[in-house]
Amino acid sequence: MIILSVNAGSSSLKFTGFEMPSEDVLISGVFERIGIGSSFYTIKVNGEKIKKEVDLPDHKVAFEILIKELLDNKIVSSLDEIKGVGHRVAQGGSYFKKSEIATDDVIAKVDELSSIAPLHNPPAIEGIKAAKAVMPNAVQTVVFDTAFHQTMAPTEFMYAIPYSYYEDYDIRKYGFHGTSHKYVSMRMNEILGRTDTKLITCHIGNGASISAVKDGKCVDTSMGLTPNAGLIMGSRCGDMDATVVTYIMEKTGMNAKEMDTVLNKQSGLLGISGVSSDSRDIENGIKEGNERCILAQDMYVKRIVEYIAKYYVLLEGCDAIVFTAGVGENSISTRKQILDKLKVLGIKVDEDANNVRGVETKITTDDSSIPAFIIPTNEELMIAKDTYSLVLQG
Ligand code: AMP
Repeated sequence: MIILSVNAGSSSLKFTGFEMPSEDVLISGVFERIGIGSSFYTIKVNGEKIKKEVDLPDHKVAFEILIKELLDNKIVSSLDEIKGVGHRVAQGGSYFKKSEIATDDVIAKVDELSSIAPLHNPPAIEGIKAAKAVMPNAVQTVVFDTAFHQTMAPTEFMYAIPYSYYEDYDIRKYGFHGTSHKYVSMRMNEILGRTDTKLITCHIGNGASISAVKDGKCVDTSMGLTPNAGLIMGSRCGDMDATVVTYIMEKTGMNAKEMDTVLNKQSGLLGISGVSSDSRDIENGIKEGNERCILAQDMYVKRIVEYIAKYYVLLEGCDAIVFTAGVGENSISTRKQILDKLKVLGIKVDEDANNVRGVETKITTDDSSIPAFIIPTNEELMIAKDTYSLVLQG
C-alpha cells in the first residue's frame, strides 16, 4: 500500500512516499516557492535526484505534479494505489490526543486552532484541501505536533497567570515536535527491550525541545503555547522573564507583531552571537575565538543541561537520554559539552563512540550511570505509520 506523508508550509510542500507496511521510501522531495514565483521542485526517486523549475501557483498544482511524477516514475500505475495521505499539522490544541482522519469536522477544528498557530495551521489546511481535490479516493489524515504531549498533567501544562486566560483563550503549554519525541522514544524502548522506561528525549535542531517520557507517555516538554518556549534555539529566545517583553515594547515602541519577530527570528544563537542561527557557523566562530559565539554556545548548552537535570528529577531517574534532529544528530562538540556538564550524575561520554554524525548509536561508556544515544528522527515515517493504521481501521 502506498502512503504519502506531507508537510505543507505557506510556500512549500515536503513529501515522502512509503510502501507500507515495509516502510520502504519510494520517493521524496520538496516543492518550493509555491505562490511566490521562481518556483521549483526537487525529487529523489529510483536513486536519482531531479530538480525542475515549474509554475507553482498553489498547493493543488504541486500535488498534481507529484501525481504525474509518481506515474511517470512507475511508483504507481494508477492514482487509486495511493491509499492514504498523512498531513503534518502543528497545533492540535486540547482537541487532538492522536492522529485522526481529516473529516470536515476535524478540519474545522484545525482551522479554529489557527488563532494560536497562525503561521502553521492555515497552510496545513490548504495542503489537506488540495490533496483531497487531487486524490479524492485516498484517506486524508492529520498528524499533530502537539498530540504526543496531551498526556501532560495540569501541573505541567498550566501557566501561573489568571486562570481565566486558560478558560477563555486556551492559553496553556501544548508542546511541539511531538511526532519526533514519540518516534525516538518508541525506538529507544525497542533498543532497551522494554516499555516501562524513563526517557529524556532531546530534539535539538533549528527549533529545539526536550521531553520527559515515562512508560512511552509524555510527562513534560519544554515548548509551550508556541514553539518559542524552553531551549535557546537558532533564532528563538526560549524561556526568559516574561516582563522583558513588555519592557522592550515600552522602551522601543514596538508593536506585538514586531516584538514577535524579535523573539522568534532575531533571538537565540543568532541574537546572542550576531553571527548566525546555524550551529555550524557558531562552531566555526568559536574556532576563530569569537567571544559572542562562545557565549551563545555556552548559554545554549547550559539551557539544555538545565532541562535534562530538571526532567531527571521530575522522572525520579532516567533510563536513557536521546539526542536527535540536526544538532543532536550531527554536532559532536555540542553533545560532548552537554554530557560533560552532566558528569555530576555519573554520566560519562565515550569520545570515540560520540565521534559520529547521523547514526543510531550509544555515545556513553558502559559504566556511565545513564546511557545516552543518538537516534535519527523520522517524523515522515511516523506520519505514514499513523496514516497506515487509520487506513486499515477505515
Ligand atoms: P533541523 O532543524 O533538525 O533540520 O536542524 C538544522 C540545524 O542542525 C542546522 O541549522 C544546524 O544548526 C544543525 N546542524 C546540521 N548539521 C550540523 C553539523 N554537522 N554540526 C553542527 N550542527 C549541525
